[in-house]
Amino acid sequence: MKRATSYEEYLAAIESIKKQDKTTWFSAGEKALTADEQKLDSYMKKKRDALLGEKKYIYDAYSPALMFHKAKTDIMNNDLFDIFKRMPQGGNLHIHTGAAWNTEKFTEMLASNPNVYVYWDPDNAFQRTIPDGKLFLFSTRPDNPHCYNYQQIARLNSKIFIESKKRLTFIDPRVDDIEYIWGGFNDYFTSISSILKVRSIYKDYYVAAFKYQYQNGNDYIEIRAGISALKENNDDEQPRNDELTGTPAKPMIYSATPPECLTLLKEAYLTAKREGCPDLKVKAIVAPSRRTSQNFDEDITNAIAILKQTPAWQQALKDDDGSEFIVGFDLVSEEDINHKTDDYAKEIIKANSKVDFFFHDGESNWVDNDNIHSAWALGTRRIGHGINLYNFPTLLKKIREEDICLEICPISNQMLRYTKDLRIHPVAQFMQQGVQCAICSDDPQIFETAGIYYDLWEVYHGAMIDLRDIKKLIKNSYIYSAMSPREKAVKLAAWEVKWQKYIRDMQPLIK
Ligand SMILES: [Zn+2]
Repeated sequence: MKRATSYEEYLAAIESIKKQDKTTWFSAGEKALTADEQKLDSYMKKKRDALLGEKKYIYDAYSPALMFHKAKTDIMNNDLFDIFKRMPQGGNLHIHTGAAWNTEKFTEMLASNPNVYVYWDPDNAFQRTIPDGKLFLFSTRPDNPHCYNYQQIARLNSKIFIESKKRLTFIDPRVDDIEYIWGGFNDYFTSISSILKVRSIYKDYYVAAFKYQYQNGNDYIEIRAGISALKENNDDEQPRNDELTGTPAKPMIYSATPPECLTLLKEAYLTAKREGCPDLKVKAIVAPSRRTSQNFDEDITNAIAILKQTPAWQQALKDDDGSEFIVGFDLVSEEDINHKTDDYAKEIIKANSKVDFFFHDGESNWVDNDNIHSAWALGTRRIGHGINLYNFPTLLKKIREEDICLEICPISNQMLRYTKDLRIHPVAQFMQQGVQCAICSDDPQIFETAGIYYDLWEVYHGAMIDLRDIKKLIKNSYIYSAMSPREKAVKLAAWEVKWQKYIRDMQPLIK
């Protein structure tokens, strides 16, 4: 740049650069806002500016710069909170079984069941084997002093009840300890892993979870579904006095018949739909953990070979309207320390399956983590997270050109310490460079969020986007979903009606 010779020339140079950036912006092709939408947009900007006025120069006081568990109360008290909460938020393309509901409600449900027990032994030296707070359903009282009856301790509101409940969320102050993060996250899933294998609990949990997310603004959900064998109770897992672990659950091997957990998951969705969520639609992505090594190759080969080709699966896993319920395959768990996506590439290619892939990849800040390259080369339809894509400009260009959407989970990325300050979350850069994104919640039960309105609030305030961008992010949750073109058209048209009503409803509030 040659040096400006006048102030006007200097301003023109800056303006020209900013204008060029706008042409690559991810929502550049979207329609202009209507007059009523513009009023809401201006109101939101005014409120955000006011918050910035108060907080801008106080390091760590602006909510997106704070860890979510510390910012949550401020966010809930913020003037724009209800604006986001009442928004029709479209779909949630990235949420996991086991972390899809709400801890307060889940523990209430458990406390109403006299057969639920919680394991609690503060002297337990094997926390990673059986963490304190692990939940079970036993048909009779177990002969183990460390198994507490959940109903009894809930009635007493005892210390163990309170503490064990905290372990089910990331509001627990232990999340300030960096060494705890993924360990604590895995402990959570271990804590609920046995009780969520119990048929009756499993079904009730997912009916309630789908209703809850629907009531909180999402009428479409794609859930990453772990596969496990279901049972009547956890009697075979009773921790004995002389050893801390019960019988380990048998690994689930995929077979020609779909596992019961998937058919029950579908039933739970259809029940929720019948019971007050008329336009709810749920689809599932089969998602084993990349953490497991035992039988894993076999599982993967079987899974991707049969998911779409076996008539029994096709039949059992159709929605009642004839559309597909099981829509794809993914690999989950912490990427940086577990198997790379490349470790499964040969098997995945060999299977030559028709199954669609929705890989969790790039949930990392390391430049030498190239899982996202593997996801792309294996033909993924979307990418879960994709955080470290900012390290790879050529791949980013490909992902933009091939219209592969990123499932962005801001609060999850922050709580798991990938982007501690959401003002510098790479979603801003991805949107700037025209990469399509959708906002998702990942594990709302652990992070204590609902719908995707906390995440949208964070992106609005962290990445300084506007209402038109929010509309595009929401619409992307349908456009880049695994729905058929016909299903997408129906959902988008219905959303447009809900959105217009929402804009009308907001007008009296923003005067
Ligand atoms: Zn995830």
